[in-house]
Amino acid sequence: MKILVAVKRVIDYNVQIRVKEDKSGVVTDNVKMSTNPPDDNAIEEAVKIKEAGKAKEVVAVSVGEEKAQETVRKALAVGADRGILVKVDGVIEPLAVSKILKKIVEKEKPDLVFMGKQAIDDDCNQTGQMLAALLNWPQATFASKIEVKEKSLVVTREVDEGLETIEVNVPAIVTCDLRLNEPRYASLPNIMKAKKKPIEQISAGDLGVDVKSRIEQIKVEEPPKRKAGIKVASVEELVQKLKNEAKVI
Ligand code: AMP
Repeated sequence: MKILVAVKRVIDYNVQIRVKEDKSGVVTDNVKMSTNPPDDNAIEEAVKIKEAGKAKEVVAVSVGEEKAQETVRKALAVGADRGILVKVDGVIEPLAVSKILKKIVEKEKPDLVFMGKQAIDDDCNQTGQMLAALLNWPQATFASKIEVKEKSLVVTREVDEGLETIEVNVPAIVTCDLRLNEPRYASLPNIMKAKKKPIEQISAGDLGVDVKSRIEQIKVEEPPKRKAGIKVASVEELVQKLKNEAKVI
């Protein structure tokens, strides 16, 4: 079994996001970038399946600028065997990413594609679903547990009502939840070893995919500032304020 894992380079989740003055987007210059957090879970799960002897190869793929190579390299340092970087300049939308991933799937012929449930920069939660539709493959989204069977996967999904368990035939697309596993840290020897692992570079143009934006972003604004809270001296004062000022009881 071969597993392809899609990893996206995004602004690190610890960074305080700043909106550009002209509201055309967020500041990315000199800002720490990292792998999209659920994509780390996707890589971890693929590597664990390989370590359990149920997969032969894990291939990490990223679509983005030259620097997205760092994201692929990190996946290699935690156990992926080789990487692919599809080079695209500027912002790329989920539909274009899924069309590119479809081309990579046709070339690599994986049995499974693991992805994150959502990218923390655009919060789209679309790419996995679109890829499944383009390939006409079954999908298991928001996976918090994956059991590999002979020709299928049993996947536990985090849904509003609780946990849903489904079985999908392979080949399939799985989008991973943060609760799926605990991603490992890359050790120094493995970071060094990863430097020798191959990363194939392809341009989106070579794949014949049109990456033109279909969505026009009008503006990006910061969320309204929250008002500072106050301290009350007693329960009586709290009840009085909730009743007479907030008018919620
Ligand atoms: P989204 O639909 O943008 O919320 O992204 C969902 C998932 O699709 C991410 O967690 C990644 O696994 C994958 N993905 C989205 N964009 C890219 C990209 N540019 N390169 C690689 N994977 C991506």
